[in-house]
Amino acid sequence: MPEKRAGARGVRVHRYAASAMPVNAYLVETRRGVVAVDSTLTVSDARRLRQRADDLGKPLRAVLITHAHPDHYGGSVEVVGDDDVPIIAADGVAAVIRRDDEIKEGIIRPMFGDEWPRERRFPNQTMRDGEAISFDDVSFTLMDLGPGESPHDSVWLVGDERLVAFAGDAAYQRMHCYLADGHWESWLANIDRLRGQLAPEAELHFGHGDPAPSWPFDWQEVYITTFIEAIQAADWSDPAAAKDDVVRRMTAYLRGGELQFLMELSVEPVAAKLGLLPNAR
Ligand SMILES: [Zn+2]
Repeated sequence: MPEKRAGARGVRVHRYAASAMPVNAYLVETRRGVVAVDSTLTVSDARRLRQRADDLGKPLRAVLITHAHPDHYGGSVEVVGDDDVPIIAADGVAAVIRRDDEIKEGIIRPMFGDEWPRERRFPNQTMRDGEAISFDDVSFTLMDLGPGESPHDSVWLVGDERLVAFAGDAAYQRMHCYLADGHWESWLANIDRLRGQLAPEAELHFGHGDPAPSWPFDWQEVYITTFIEAIQAADWSDPAAAKDDVVRRMTAYLRGGELQFLMELSVEPVAAKLGLLPNAR
């Protein structure tokens, strides 16, 4: 169900919580237009997101992408449709999306079938750290984070006061997390940067989970270290048993947590990165 939240001066932020999997996209409503932030994973969700934008009765101005994962860029083709609307991302985010899309096709097609768009549309306008672009006098400033949760993450800051920010998956709101890209050390450094650079009163919007009264950065740090410790504690002489052990520890740590499949997809890649898989020794 879409939710509406009051935003900073002159904009309203509407959250679109996808139904195929718990991932959020957002519509930033300005006086005369709408800017989408991320585009969900599936055809159906992306079409509903676009419908929601159309229901606001204002033209779509742009799609901004936070980071290089398919649950955030995959639906862009459906959101944009036939309109001449730019899809904007950090240089590095755009490059990784192009580089990895074919690999993602191989992983996501078997899971989601025709709901994973046959044609994906990639960012066609890129920006650098600190650059801003305005729509209806509302500025959107890019904070380029580099590797983190994905191979390339960024944050979009809205307005000159930067009191609204879209932080992608820099932190999940108490759901299982995807660590398979292996950049958890820079992810932790990104969290430190965000803590230091975001206005303390800023309203942050994330890619997964319901809005929370406080920033989820402390929780995210503990999740990351708990996961890495669980991998290190497992006995990798039997990889299947080791994976079961990690999954058991993490589901005990976050009982009933959604997106468990993302965590499960991360176990072997992280073990490999740590040199723990027998065939990697
Ligand atoms: Zn995500």
